[in-house]
Order: sequence, then structure tokens, then C-alpha cells
Amino acid sequence: MIECEYQTTATLHRIADLYGYQEQSLQCQEELAECIVAINKFRRTNIYKDQEKIERRKNLISEIADVMIMLQQMIHLLDCQEELEAEVGRKIQRQVERMKEAGIWEE
Ligand SMILES: [Mg+2]
Repeated sequence: MIECEYQTTATLHRIADLYGYQEQSLQCQEELAECIVAINKFRRTNIYKDQEKIERRKNLISEIADVMIMLQQMIHLLDCQEELEAEVGRKIQRQVERMKEAGIWEE
């Protein structure tokens, strides 16, 4: 899911193994909640307030990074990389089929 350097991946796996699933699954939930808040705040930004938009965008990117870091650890702790990739591929294909049926997707 996340394209990152080998060293970064190895470091994330080490962090995940040191804390374990109980701790990291709680942290993951917390980061997901923070990301939801950041998504809402960015969408509600007053379009005339440029500085606010810049700050909220920066905050959203930061929260997305937190979530990606935690999900990468969850994938490691659940030992599900291949299973996940297959599921992602299947879901994307299913969405494309739905869009074709709705006339939104053209080859
Ligand atoms: Mg966060």
C-alpha cells in the first residue's frame, strides 16, 4: 500500500513488533479518528481564507501520514500483505465494473 524505502519499512516493522498488536491497534484507531477530523476541517475551510486552507491542508497531510504509518504496521502485525493486495485489486476492479455499468467509465 505504501511505497517507501526498504529501511523505512524495516523500521516500521521493528516499531510494530516492539509495541505489539494491542498497543498499535489502539494507536491506529486514534490516528484514524484524527484523520477524520482533519478531512472534515479541510473540507469546511473558508475558500476566502488562504492561510487557513494552507494550514488545514498541511494538517490533513500530516494525519494521512500518521494513518499510513499505522496501517503499514497493522498489515505487518496481521501478516496480510499478499492477502491485502489481492483484496485491493479485487475491490478496484469491482468499482470499475460498477462505473462501467453506470456509464461513467469508458475504455
Ligand atoms: Mg495524528
